Amino acid sequence: MSKENLSDWPLSHTSAEEEEEEEEDDGELKVCQVCGDRATGYHFNAMTCEGCKGFFRRAMKHPTKFCCPWQGVCVITKNNRRQCQACRLRKCQSIGMMKELIMTDEAVEKRRSQIRRKRMVEEPLLSPQQEAVIQELVNTHEKTFDITFSHFQFRPIDRDLNPMSVWNQTASGQSATLTRRMDNLSSSYSTSTPTSFSSSSCSFEGEENENEKEDRSDRGKKTVFTTLPHVADLTTYMIQNIINFAKGLPSFRALAIDDQISLLKGAMFEMMQIRFNMMFNVKTGIWECGPLTYCMDDAVRAGFQRHLLDPLMRFHYTLRNLQLQEVEYVLMQAISLFSPDRPGVIHHGVIDGLQEKVAIALKVHIDSKRAKPEKHLLYPKILACLTEMRTMNEEYTKQVLQIQDIQPGNSFDPLILEVVSKDSRARTPSRDA
Ligand SMILES: [Zn+2]
Ligand SMILES: [Zn+2]
Repeated sequence: MSKENLSDWPLSHTSAEEEEEEEEDDGELKVCQVCGDRATGYHFNAMTCEGCKGFFRRAMKHPTKFCCPWQGVCVITKNNRRQCQACRLRKCQSIGMMKELIMTDEAVEKRRSQIRRKRMVEEPLLSPQQEAVIQELVNTHEKTFDITFSHFQFRPIDRDLNPMSVWNQTASGQSATLTRRMDNLSSSYSTSTPTSFSSSSCSFEGEENENEKEDRSDRGKKTVFTTLPHVADLTTYMIQNIINFAKGLPSFRALAIDDQISLLKGAMFEMMQIRFNMMFNVKTGIWECGPLTYCMDDAVRAGFQRHLLDPLMRFHYTLRNLQLQEVEYVLMQAISLFSPDRPGVIHHGVIDGLQEKVAIALKVHIDSKRAKPEKHLLYPKILACLTEMRTMNEEYTKQVLQIQDIQPGNSFDPLILEVVSKDSRARTPSRDA
């Protein structure tokens, strides 16, 4: 017996699956057409109570010749329905109950396991492999995300300094090693003595130090973008941490070096924004980076234009208002990093697989760890934020290069220029150790 055999039957009210489904309740009082008891829905093609449903199933599964002890015309009621099986069965058949709609024991078991699987999909749990993927990403993120900015060394606002000669990021032994391993990203890395500078004296929310005041008086002669050296250092610092994050992931290190470079170049702006968003205060519109605070105006004074900054600001509000947990931010970074469609990527398939693994882990994480009301649409909203950032990627590159043109001697570290450069390093021979 199969459903296909029944395709011509009037099945408008019922189906083989109905036997195991919850009964719908539209508030209307339903009456069993066999005995008049309260009905629970359509069973085997007729509105019946649970008692008559069970009776019909038993009668069909173990056929017995019933015999009416009276005249064969008993009126079946809720109270007498057990007294004459013959008339009860006759009534069942007369109202159209169909033996063909009874599922075999095998079909019932199959149906039950389908329902169990459906519930698993609705209430998913992270698999041990997914937990491991997430744990590794979070650990690597925490090692490479300096939320206190205690390792951030930057230039004071002094236009006479040559940016090429002062930058050095070797704040800790670990980052020095990782940077050397990634120095194929920046062949022209400067390695001179670090400039020490007190963090607390370099807030950009209105305070000006002596250098800056002096500088504004003759800005026409020397410089246009007052916060540029600092913003450039901040960007370099973020880039180095993001390189360390990527390099800390075995799945990333296992990729071809040319693909590693293409992925980092493609995702760098987005990953920086994700990291900055974790420090964004929606109430004040200020990024709180340890002892340093930044507002959008600092980017304006570094030479960036509203054409980029307005949508970027809106983006930071949108993403921050999703109130993501750290793990969700980290997975978001990884989805951005493992984007197979970045320019220059060669091994699309491998990277696509990595991205899918992380994206599914994020979805299952949200479905399993978030309470129902906030879970609604959170995953698609995160994906929408990733898409939104992509639209700004190109404009960022354009503006960095414009700023570099206006102020070539005093702006971005070669590392930044390398990240935004159009020419793909993928064409040069690999120098990975
Ligand atoms: Zn009944
Ligand atoms: Zn009878």
